[in-house]
Amino acid sequence: MPNQQFDAIIVGAGIAGMYQLYRLRELGLKVRAYETGDGVGGVWYWNRYPGARFDSESYSYAFSFSDEILKEWNWSERFSGQAENERYYNFVADKLDLRKDIQFNSKVTAARFLQDENQWEVEIEGGEKARARYMITALGPLSAVQMPRIEGIDSFKGEYHHTARWPKTPVDFKGKRVGVIGTGATGVQVIQEVAKTAKQLTVFQLDANWCAPLNNSRITDAEQPALKASYPEVFKKCRESFGGFVHQFDMRSIFDVTPEEREAIFERLYAEPGFGIWLGNFHDIMTDEKANAIITDFIARKIRQRVKDPAVADILIPKDHGFGMKRVPMETKYYEAYNQDNVKLVDLRKTPIERVNATGIKTSDKQCDLDFIIYATGFDAVTGGYKRIDIRGVDGQSLSERWSDGPHTYLGMQVTGFPNMFMLVGPHNGATFCNIPRCIEQNVEWVTDCIKYMQAHNYKRIETTLAAEDAWTDHVYDTVKDSLLTKADSWFMGANTPGKKRTFLLYGGGGPAYRAKCDEVAAKGYEGFKMQ
Ligand code: NAP
Repeated sequence: MPNQQFDAIIVGAGIAGMYQLYRLRELGLKVRAYETGDGVGGVWYWNRYPGARFDSESYSYAFSFSDEILKEWNWSERFSGQAENERYYNFVADKLDLRKDIQFNSKVTAARFLQDENQWEVEIEGGEKARARYMITALGPLSAVQMPRIEGIDSFKGEYHHTARWPKTPVDFKGKRVGVIGTGATGVQVIQEVAKTAKQLTVFQLDANWCAPLNNSRITDAEQPALKASYPEVFKKCRESFGGFVHQFDMRSIFDVTPEEREAIFERLYAEPGFGIWLGNFHDIMTDEKANAIITDFIARKIRQRVKDPAVADILIPKDHGFGMKRVPMETKYYEAYNQDNVKLVDLRKTPIERVNATGIKTSDKQCDLDFIIYATGFDAVTGGYKRIDIRGVDGQSLSERWSDGPHTYLGMQVTGFPNMFMLVGPHNGATFCNIPRCIEQNVEWVTDCIKYMQAHNYKRIETTLAAEDAWTDHVYDTVKDSLLTKADSWFMGANTPGKKRTFLLYGGGGPAYRAKCDEVAAKGYEGFKMQ
């Protein structure tokens, strides 16, 4: 027997789960959110590693739906740090009185669809069960922590953590020999921070990434009123831009301007805050290898200028992909860290790790003794969170098995055979290649309207059709047929997870096209869904 009965169960109390809870409660539904952690904020709860901060402009990342929250909350930096971000989500949870409907320390391990009742039954670690008409997954695309497959990890006698499972108590690196494995967006943030205090920092790099300056700054009290007055404009820009950011691609070709003009544009973008150098650049850097080679050459020159030792600079310059083909890590004096005497770079492509042992890391050419190892090795992205829950739909079919050759979804929100389950930021959902909270709001509002529609028509079950799902899946792959995003081995392609099929996991059509499609589906009485 289930312990409890709800109208809707939300899995996860991160940014998406919090907002979904608020909206469904407004509809008068009895809702329960289950959260593995003991606090709200999802990605900003878990990723408390040193140096963690937004790469999106803080004010473009915040919830936009509540004027009261927008008015009351002041961001102290253009790209604020993890502690402030976590405080923000706690502030929102208090403001909206969300906690009373969130069960913390409750990891959902299984969910099955009871087809005779048109209900979902979820199981929490420890055996507790609950049922609801709707299950809404708000798992986060980057939540399934991935430790590397290196022999001997547990034999290390010093302290070690994955960046997304960082302890709450502060860690002091003074006097310590620290090793960092991983140089993605996370590793870069960690390295530049730990380099400030560690006695010795050794960076173990597999493939280099193209990083660009964050150009962060404080937001003074005097600047707050003008910033707040600009919020409608900020959110409008985000709504209209491809990636939900304040940055818009330049729709001219890179070849429409002279080499001198283009160099000046690159210099300006490189000196500007945030993702402009990537997402505000000429659009064809993302589709045309020749255009891409030009910006790639510019960034390579910057790395060479900033890193004193040419041999080290060479290791830091990616050889396997061009700029922007993977998510660009944003940095603050990252490259300069390698000019410090206490920072060493190990090129794992030349000298691979053989094993971790009691005192440190053994590569093919030497032993590196360490007191602390940081694993910045990423996530089983987008589908990983789903795989780690035993989700069973009609006739007991498993979602993981259904997706063994890559995700099949309609709008990235539903899967055939899994009625009444809605995915927020699911695979192939427009919110995946996005300044995520902007697209989360769209996802949540769409799901809320859909449930409202079902209630108004007294429907008990909603399921997408196979035809709609197939058409959407084809469309998603079509959105990236000319894109260089599919050329690199990144988490966008599932290529960072051993054994995972290499396939595009995000949506490449951009926010406005995705929103328009979702709106059209709703306007046509939820075209592509069967309701009964
Ligand atoms: P990631 O981009 O997947 O990077 C993982 C790193 O670990 C890569 O450098 C990878 O090398 C390395 N690695 C993996 N397995 C390894 C092994 N066995 N041996 C040695 N190295 C290994 O993960 P991430 O840095 O955590 O970033 C994931 C995403 O999180 C980002 O792309 C971004 O979307 C998000 N993020 C956002 C922010 C923000 O907004 N502020 C900050 C951090 C992260 P290879 O690449 O060579 O495989």
